[in-house]
Amino acid sequence: MILPIIGPQASGKGTQASRLAKHYGLFHFSSGDVLRDEVKSGSDLGKEVARIMNSGKLVSDELIYDIIKKICATHPEGILFDGCPRTLAQAERLVGELEIDLLIEISIPDETALKRVTSRFHCSQCARGYNTVSLPPRTAGICDDDEAPLVQRDDDMPEAVKKRLALYHRQTVPVIEFYRNLGVSIRTIDGEQSIDEVFEEIRLAIDSSRETGPSMTVRHPAPSKWRV
Ligand code: AMP
Repeated sequence: MILPIIGPQASGKGTQASRLAKHYGLFHFSSGDVLRDEVKSGSDLGKEVARIMNSGKLVSDELIYDIIKKICATHPEGILFDGCPRTLAQAERLVGELEIDLLIEISIPDETALKRVTSRFHCSQCARGYNTVSLPPRTAGICDDDEAPLVQRDDDMPEAVKKRLALYHRQTVPVIEFYRNLGVSIRTIDGEQSIDEVFEEIRLAIDSSRETGPSMTVRHPAPSKWRV
């Protein structure tokens, strides 16, 4: 099963993707997490990626495509794409590689995204995620598991978030239209509902799409320079 989940920052796509991946036995692929791992490794590429991420911009389509190629080759069980593809160029290249069963769009207003992002923290050691409003730690600022201090992502600072939201509307929303025109089944979910309600709606959408089979059956060959 190939399931991309698309939504703006703090729409809850990461939370839902990880729950859905467990529920359906799919590999949870978060391009953001893969890039953050590269940053942590301290490599030259990681330094460059950190600069781009912290400025609220997107990394190159080439880099994302290379990462996706590797992931597809190693996860035949099916993949839940969390936040990917994020540009038309990425979507166009993937048409030749993937058969999308269903595209999930989680929709929230920009004001909600901004409010949510400023309340988002994670543990500086184990990376467990918290939200000071909806999922607070037992003691403010401290991880429940290992008592390490909680920190915010650099790209969750308000100026970077505003830039990312503008990019989402300019570069990612057209991806949804692109797939709609290809005949891919798309479900738009109201991301202002509770985490459980969003999960349930997505689960029902996936289960009914599994009965009808993949929506994207046309396989176009990708341009030769992009073939694996
Ligand atoms: P995320 O955790 O999904 O919000 O991603 C964090 C950052 O990683 C983004 O703001 C981008 O700089 C970069 N990134 C993640 N996924 C992609 C993608 N598919 N295309 C381009 N840049 C990406």
